[in-house]
Amino acid sequence: MADAAPLVVTDALLVTQDTGRRVVRGDVRVEAGRFVHVGPRAPREGAEVVDGHRFALVPGFVNAHTHVAMGLLRGIADDVELAGFLETLFRVDAARTELDVEIGARAGIAEMLLGGTTSFLDLYYYEDAVARATEALGARGFLGWAVLDADKTTQRGAPLDNAERFLRRWSGHRSVEPLVAPQGVYVCSRETWLGARELAERHRTLLHYHLSETRREVHEHEARTGRRPAIWLEEIGALGPRQVAAHAVWLTGEEIAVLGRRQVGIAHCPSSNLKLASGGVAPVVELRAAGATVGLGTDSVASNNSLSMLREMHMAGLVQKNQRWDASVLSAQELLDLATIDGARLLGREAEIGSIEVGKCADFSVVRLDHPTLVPARAEALVSHLAYAMSDEAIDSVYVDGRPVVRHRALVRADWDQVRRDAESSSEALWAARGRA
Ligand SMILES: [Zn+2]
Repeated sequence: MADAAPLVVTDALLVTQDTGRRVVRGDVRVEAGRFVHVGPRAPREGAEVVDGHRFALVPGFVNAHTHVAMGLLRGIADDVELAGFLETLFRVDAARTELDVEIGARAGIAEMLLGGTTSFLDLYYYEDAVARATEALGARGFLGWAVLDADKTTQRGAPLDNAERFLRRWSGHRSVEPLVAPQGVYVCSRETWLGARELAERHRTLLHYHLSETRREVHEHEARTGRRPAIWLEEIGALGPRQVAAHAVWLTGEEIAVLGRRQVGIAHCPSSNLKLASGGVAPVVELRAAGATVGLGTDSVASNNSLSMLREMHMAGLVQKNQRWDASVLSAQELLDLATIDGARLLGREAEIGSIEVGKCADFSVVRLDHPTLVPARAEALVSHLAYAMSDEAIDSVYVDGRPVVRHRALVRADWDQVRRDAESSSEALWAARGRA
């Protein structure tokens, strides 16, 4: 698609998330999808000019862990722990068609865009369908093809071969980055895991996986192998940079040190952990201190049950503070970092996304300063409002690569009523499969 005409937004409050974390009133100019001016008095020649003085500009959020195609499964398995949750989910999954996945992904991506999320890291199968939905709605997708042992999958064909074909089909795409996603140690043998890692290295992609989400997973793995999951991964030579481990709740000090030393990225998913009663609280402070980059993920709407990164920031902050009897940990600024620039770093894209700076991709939200959840809309309180107070409805418009994807709370590149109607009708068969034992 051709680049949009240059865009200038004037006199807005810019939550830059640059190295100085400046919040300043000023202009931005976007050309060919990138910021070419951030600060006072942008040149306006040849540009569409938007008066921004009632708005803040915020970098697009990076959702570091989700299964966006599960958009049709919100509310399908509430109020049970992970084992019971997965039992229902696997049964429903077996009934899913590729079309269901695409329709679910459209619903999920629509929800994310309307909530200011412009990039997301996904783990699922039929990722071609998710890639098509990503492209159609205008998001930026980092899409991991789920890899697990051949005898444990509902995929047709060998998962590793499917993953490799997916990498080949989408490599070099502008808004879709394909990657490899071993689901977790509970469904991946040593050979499967190392095969996934080798595939990711050969294609120079990220590796994304679930790690130590529940005590049961940790204890069962320990009973089987004699090692806790992160130590086992270290010993088989699986850990390294360009990896994102989701959850990382049940870790020992030794495992935290190993993950930090190997520069493994962590996607913290507090809402999902709390709702599934994982019991512990991810050691976010220790992981960061050990050198791991930590981002924030919503997980799916089957376990969260929202894709709102604003809700997730709020939850992440409150849980860490309360758990540690220390209100100073994970400050509002740090929470916003997790949702933006640290998420970008997790994806190896900190030079491209995650902040409003000259040269970066113009992925940003336009936030209404007159919304009730932003009063008083003072520059010095804006980061606090984002972390603790703001609702998704305060987001007026969203841009990806300088192109509008949400304008005045309506999707630009899809018709929400159609997305919703397709989701409602596609959910029928999946919900019917729920009760089947
Ligand atoms: Zn997950």
